[in-house]
Amino acid sequence: MIDILKATAAKIDEEKDYLTELDNEIADGDHGVNMAKGFNAVVAKLDAMSGKDIGSLLKTTGMTLVSTVGGSAGPLYGTAYMKAGSVLSGKNEMDEKDLVAAMEAAIGGIQMRGKATTGEKTMLDSLCPAYDALKSGVEAGEDMKTALTKAVEAAETGVEYTKTIKATKGRASYIGDRSIGHQDPGATSALYILQVLLDNI
Ligand code: ADP
Ligand code: MG
Repeated sequence: MIDILKATAAKIDEEKDYLTELDNEIADGDHGVNMAKGFNAVVAKLDAMSGKDIGSLLKTTGMTLVSTVGGSAGPLYGTAYMKAGSVLSGKNEMDEKDLVAAMEAAIGGIQMRGKATTGEKTMLDSLCPAYDALKSGVEAGEDMKTALTKAVEAAETGVEYTKTIKATKGRASYIGDRSIGHQDPGATSALYILQVLLDNI
């Protein structure tokens, strides 16, 4: 999990300018900067955490994101990681069912905090279809890699879908219909987080 979190931070850092550019088209152009700042702060804490259970690692990640990132994505992702951490509390291994439960809790946290649903041009538009694909794959007996591959594909489709809809939550909602045609930055960073998970399991 430490390696996965470090790889996530590296990917976010690599895509920082692109995420910021996407945010700039529809809002205030800080999503990449926000995410990179938060995940760099997470990385700074990870080495001191070797040997800790998965739940503790994710809870620390969440609390760090909430406390270091301004803007909406920090508290939203932070809550997601904290909720996933609660589900995986005390665990040193994570199987397919654990992943489904953790992702369900993470999405629940984002919805509790942000009061959004799918179709509003947010991170939920990649996360929710990914979760649905993961859950049905696991229920059909697929292994983690197979189910997560489908989840990432569903997230990619979700990111494309955000181009077709107007933002009704967050800063991008201020420009209303003019947000149509642009890709949501939060949906894009959520895709990266899932991609990194898939690449590192
Ligand atoms: P801010 O909007 O405060 O500048 P960021 O730019 O870091 O924060 O994050 C913007 C992203 O946050 C959006 O692209 C969207 O995916 C996500 N977002 C905004 N509001 C919500 C919400 N209420 N629920 C879920 N996600 C949201
Ligand atoms: Mg922003």
